[in-house]
Amino acid sequence: MQRLEGKVALITGGASGIGECTARLFHAHGAKLVIADIQDDLGKSISDQLGGPSECLYMHCDVTSEPDVEQAVDAAVSAFGTLDIMYNNAGRIDVPKPITETSQADFESVVSTNLTGAFLGTKHAARVMVPRARGGCIVSTASVCAVVGGTGTHAYTASKHALLGLMKSAAFELGQHGIRVNLVSPYAVATPLAFNGFAMGCGNLKGVALKAEDVAHAVLYLSSDDAKYVSGHNLLVDGGFSVVNPSLS
Ligand code: NAD
Repeated sequence: MQRLEGKVALITGGASGIGECTARLFHAHGAKLVIADIQDDLGKSISDQLGGPSECLYMHCDVTSEPDVEQAVDAAVSAFGTLDIMYNNAGRIDVPKPITETSQADFESVVSTNLTGAFLGTKHAARVMVPRARGGCIVSTASVCAVVGGTGTHAYTASKHALLGLMKSAAFELGQHGIRVNLVSPYAVATPLAFNGFAMGCGNLKGVALKAEDVAHAVLYLSSDDAKYVSGHNLLVDGGFSVVNPSLS
């Protein structure tokens, strides 16, 4: 069954890892797509593999730039007529280090991608979804680091915690327009973003390693009509890792 037939989705950070996997899954479920990223060669290659611009359009888009995000959202509307699903997924992580060695520039750069990027995506998705009065769905990728402390990744952990607040305030406001706003919060997945040792662990679920596909399926659920009454929710895909403070387990 194609769960996104007739839907139009925009995925930031869709050229790699969880975003790429979600793009492939959304396409398999009938969605038309815009992949927005800064890795142009990878993004164009995925667009080609998924049928080219008439099925999956690639847009260069730095999510820290409001004109770029605005343009990517407008490209979805002009290519496919509307925007039903906004997936704010682009993200960066800081190299773990003591807070005394964390520079303001490094801190702001990670926050700008992970938090400001999701804010801009939410803002411009709402700009086109509210007037059309047909609802819509906004999902952002947070992390287990949205609910537990990280290990020296201060900017990452702060930005992912802040996404919870942004999601809640947006879910409350945009719910008045039938727009659902949610987060997906994965444990470590082996993608270019993750550090090897960190990504290869099994978390709390013995013998089970989390894959990008598992996260993509959670995003598919949140984006589909199966979740039509789910809003303001942080869907943890962490095998139960965050239910106990890991430092105590
Ligand atoms: P990834 O590196 O494979 O993908 C991230 C993508 O974001 C890349 O294609 C990159 O080019 C893009 N990107 C980075 N900065 C950008 C910018 N300014 N504008 C546009 N695109 C930009 O990593 P991933 O693991 O798939 O990460 C996807 C999301 O999942 C991130 O938000 C990340 O924080 C989150 N996450 C990842 C893990 C993990 O262990 N991999 C765990 C929890 C949450």
